Amino acid sequence: MFDDVADLYQQVILDHCKQPRNFRELPQCSCSAQGHNPLCGDQLTLFLKLEGDVIQEVTFVGSGCCISKASASILTTTVAGKTRTEAQHLFDVVHDMVTTGKAREDLGKLAVFAGVHKFPSRVKCAILAWHALMGALKGAQQPVSTETEEM
Ligand code: ZN
Repeated sequence: MFDDVADLYQQVILDHCKQPRNFRELPQCSCSAQGHNPLCGDQLTLFLKLEGDVIQEVTFVGSGCCISKASASILTTTVAGKTRTEAQHLFDVVHDMVTTGKAREDLGKLAVFAGVHKFPSRVKCAILAWHALMGALKGAQQPVSTETEEM
């Protein structure tokens, strides 16, 4: 499926998939949310530690395909240190990128997911962790499902 995605991008995804960053529970977390992508079977739980309005730390556990894991892993390294508002903005940018394929240069590693827009079934894998992030910030009580997503 990655035939026409640059090798570099593929390597970044494989790296984060095989060795996910911040892959652990966070016992002292401020909030958490579960995400579920029934189409692929991806499941993850995201843990956030907030201090005031700033996201200090993000971790996750779960199981799923390589794209969902790599996306969650890169999310945890990207969102740490951001404010709620910045995180919401990033969600919008990432959502736009995975659905349109237009990556902005300042997105860093996140840009590797621009390629998934060519594979509609994979878009939900890539966006799952971001939905969980929004769910956690909004204090969602129910697991967040990608099936409520309109695409
Ligand atoms: Zn998946």
